[in-house]
Order: sequence, then C-alpha cells, then structure tokens
Amino acid sequence: EGEFLDQLDSRIRVVVRKRPMNRKEMDRKEMDIAECCNWDQVQINEPKVKVDLTKYTEHHQFMFDQVFDEETNNQEVYFYTARPLVSGIFSGGHATCFAYGQTGAGKTFTMMGRDGIYVLAAKDIFTMLTRPEYQHLQAEVAFFEIYGGKLFDLLNKRKRLWAREDAKGTVCIAGLREEVVADCDRLMRIIDYGLTSRSVGATGVNADSSRSHAILQITLRAAGDPSRRIHGRISFIDLAGSERAADTMDTNRQTRMEGAEINKSLLALKECIRALDKKSGHTPFRGSKLTMVLKDSFVGNAQTVMIANISPNSLSCENTLNTLRYADRVKEI
Ligand code: ADP
Ligand code: MG
Repeated sequence: EGEFLDQLDSRIRVVVRKRPMNRKEMDRKEMDIAECCNWDQVQINEPKVKVDLTKYTEHHQFMFDQVFDEETNNQEVYFYTARPLVSGIFSGGHATCFAYGQTGAGKTFTMMGRDGIYVLAAKDIFTMLTRPEYQHLQAEVAFFEIYGGKLFDLLNKRKRLWAREDAKGTVCIAGLREEVVADCDRLMRIIDYGLTSRSVGATGVNADSSRSHAILQITLRAAGDPSRRIHGRISFIDLAGSERAADTMDTNRQTRMEGAEINKSLLALKECIRALDKKSGHTPFRGSKLTMVLKDSFVGNAQTVMIANISPNSLSCENTLNTLRYADRVKEI
C-alpha cells in the first residue's frame, strides 16, 4: 500500500463532479440536465423556450482533466485529485485542493465529509509518516474560515485573527491554533468540532456556511524544531457558494458587502491559479484575503487541484453553467 509513485504532470488540475439527484428533486420530477459524456467531458442540456413558445434545448459542452459522474464516490475522486499531491508535500511542496460551486452542489460532502477528501489524504499522510525517512516529521492541523474578508479560528471558539506579511514576504496568521495530530480519529474529531463552530458562529447568529470559505491545513514540520519551518503543507478549501458572488445586487447592505467580498476573492483566486502555470510574472495574491493567506500555494513548488461541483437539476442551470465557465477559465492558460 501507498507507493505514491504517481505525481501530477502539471501544476494545475481542474475536474468536475456532478452530484446525484436528491429525493426532493426526484419527487418534484425535476430534469437532470448534466450529462457526463466521457471521462473528460460534460454536457449541459439547457431547456429553453422561445418567444413563440416553441421549446428547444441548447447544448453546452466542456472538457476538463476529468469529469466524475453521480456514481463516483469520494474514494475515486480522491484517487484522481488529492492523492497525487500527497507525495509532493513530503518532498517539501505546497498542495492545495479547492471545492468550487453553488450552494448544495456537494462541496462540503466532497471536501469535509466523513469520508471526504481531507480524511482520505490524512490517512495516506499518517501512513507515510511511519516510514523511517519521515519519522522526524509530524502533522499539525489548522482550520479557519474567511467570512466577509475577516479570519476566524474554527479550532478556537471562532476567535478573530489577523494575517501579516513580514519583510521577507512570508504571510502568517498570528495566533492561529495548530494541533499536532497523529491519527485519523483525532483529526476527524477536531474537524467535526470546527465544522460545528462554522455553522453556529461566535455571536450565536447563524453564520451561513455558504457565505464563508473554510480552510483546513495539514502542515508537516520537524518535531521540536524551534524555528517551526514548514516542511510541506496541504490545504483543503471549501469555498463560499459561488452564487453568492452575485449577491452584489442584493438590496441588504450586509449581504451586498459579503457578496462583493466573495466575488472579489473568487476572481482573485482564478487569477492566482492561472498565474501558477506561467513561468514568470506576477501573482496577484494581494487581491483578496483568501489569496493572501494562501500565498504559499501560488508561488514556488506548488500544485493545485480544483474540483468544480455541479448540481444536476434544471433549476440550477444558470449556476451550473457559471461554475463550468469559471472552471474552464482556471484551466485555460
Ligand atoms: P455544498 O457544501 O456545496 O453547499 P453539500 O456538500 O452540503 O453542498 O451537499 C448538499 C447535499 O447533497 C448534502 O445533503 C450532501 O450530503 C448531498 N450530496 C452532495 N454530493 C453528494 C454525492 N456525491 N453523493 C451523495 N450525496 C451528495
Ligand atoms: Mg457546504
């Protein structure tokens, strides 16, 4: 088990995952408009009605590095996305795995669920750590969220945190809680705790998870190293619902500001990932709090996977097309 010979041949991989129709959608006899035609192709069959009331369907085709249909389980998604990144962090790299998509499309299920990608990656990381050559290393976990452009520690009562960039250009989050973890059970208990405070919020007011980016980081460091130098790091990011980027039109001031912030961060993210594949040039990581705290993921020896989650039902058509267009632009260099 765990030879991890396979590495990614490019620094960016963009995949699509379609979730199954749920009970409600089936009861309402909603149409499934997302067709996974091939291992790398998805087609959206958009129902349209003309002015003269003739019905027709417009077909939109997209190609990605991989397309996962509704039958695919987390294990398989993991195998083709985060798994090839794990060996990279042991050789000193940074790896990042994003879940993008509208609320309800399956981001949290894919990334943070009970058998989500972070758990499967952690299992492989703990196995690797038992090897003699890595016995000096330990894994530390941090879990925080970005809500309205502000940082909150999900492992420390949603305490407000600040990111700082030092003279050398290193970005660090002052006071962020990092817990040493040695096994999956403990890690899962820590993350469950964090997910609870994500949905409840500090003030008791319901902090809607669709409005925040959740960032889970597993960092490898040499045990007892006083400099706390990062050996390697993998980040799992459950992004805010992409439909929230359109909330800039909302009449409520608070929602409008949150929407504008999400829009800004998702645009900055796209630009930073695109900059990864260009040999030289400038990475606009200062464009948002999200890209700023992920700076290390966009410079140097970094690899990125984006999972674009889509819903199958026709009511989500516009959001689904927006998600696929966004993912398409991330991929296209
Ligand atoms: P998001 O985080 O994008 O808002 P969720 O991950 O919460 O979406 O998914 C919405 C609902 O759909 C949840 O009840 C989840 O369990 C279910 N779901 C999502 N993806 C899948 C899947 N691939 N298979 C089965 N159920 C899924
Ligand atoms: Mg979610």
